[in-house]
Amino acid sequence: MHEHKRILVTGGLGFLGSFLCESLLADGHEVICVDSFQTGSRENVAHLRDHPSFEIMRHDVTVPLHVEADEIFNLACPASPIHYQVDPVKTVKTSVMGAINLLDLARRTKSKIFQASTSEVYGDPKVHPQPEGYWGHVNPNGPRSCYDEGKRCAETLFFDYHRQYGVNIRIARIFNTYGPRMHPNDGRVVSNFIVQALTGKPITIYGDGTQTRSFCYVTDLIRGFRALMDAPDGIELPVNLGNPGEFTMLELATLVIELTGSRSRVVHLPLPKDDPTQRKPDITRATETLGWKPEIPLFEGLQRTIAHFDQLLSRTQKRAVP
Ligand code: NAD
Ligand code: UDP
Repeated sequence: MHEHKRILVTGGLGFLGSFLCESLLADGHEVICVDSFQTGSRENVAHLRDHPSFEIMRHDVTVPLHVEADEIFNLACPASPIHYQVDPVKTVKTSVMGAINLLDLARRTKSKIFQASTSEVYGDPKVHPQPEGYWGHVNPNGPRSCYDEGKRCAETLFFDYHRQYGVNIRIARIFNTYGPRMHPNDGRVVSNFIVQALTGKPITIYGDGTQTRSFCYVTDLIRGFRALMDAPDGIELPVNLGNPGEFTMLELATLVIELTGSRSRVVHLPLPKDDPTQRKPDITRATETLGWKPEIPLFEGLQRTIAHFDQLLSRTQKRAVP
């Protein structure tokens, strides 16, 4: 039986946030979801709307906020390159000013605070797989820097608030995560390939498709969030959360075509600037300290995600009948 807590989730209307809110409510907690609606929507939490312990607050984390909570999960930030590059200055502000505002809140209210950091802090890594001790290889002024450096600065702030003011912090470095409720148009590789396959459009591989990523199914990741937040104080931070299964984009395309039974052909488009060539988490720390490891293999997670997009596209009548 879990202790009942009042928990603030910033970015709670987004892809990961909506699953986190659902998981916290299922354990009997009270959830205040703070979101600016920049990339999130009420639709993602439509099934929670009438839950008596769920509250939505429209608020931008770049502005200080005053809420009483026992714990804070800070997820607010656009995560997909096409979203975070629309207004890069705002992306930096969201990560940096958002971290300062929420850390100040945690300091005032003595609440524990969790940061959704990212594998992007490793940039285009020269160490493979990436352990937490690796400092990364990041371009400080490229088109991805607003996100990567914003998240790196947020980590700096978390550690400084911990060292300087004793704030109780948790930092998860999240690797590519996929699942239902991803935005169909956010340009992410998993949603792009699935939507393209289901609508009979060409599958767009950027570059030669030999770059790799490691994809974690969303519910596995949320289990990791919860384990990290609930872990005893003194845990070594930060903690990588991701699925170590590593795939090239060519392999991913082949798998999506196979699972959808699509007749889409593959086309190659130019590789975006600073696109990391490889990425795979070393999850030794998460496994040893949290007892966490992902359980859902890519083919199974993809089947569930395909079923979600299939339903969504059928509703909007965009699904191509093979
Ligand atoms: P998402 O875009 O679906 O959700 C982000 C949410 O934050 C949205 O609801 C958006 O409206 C909200 N938001 C953005 N700016 C805000 C602001 N200034 N104030 C208040 N709310 C704001 O993205 P996601 O995939 O759910 O990612 C959630 C978090 O996890 C992000 O911090 C992201 O950087 C991190 N992350 C995600 C992944 C992934 O694979 N999805 C990987 C690494 C890290
Ligand atoms: N990618 C691709 N086709 C697409 C979208 C993305 O080949 O339609 C590639 C992209 O260049 C990158 C990988 O897939 O190498 C993962 O891209 P995504 O934007 O999903 O995540 P990130 O680059 O942030 O890890």
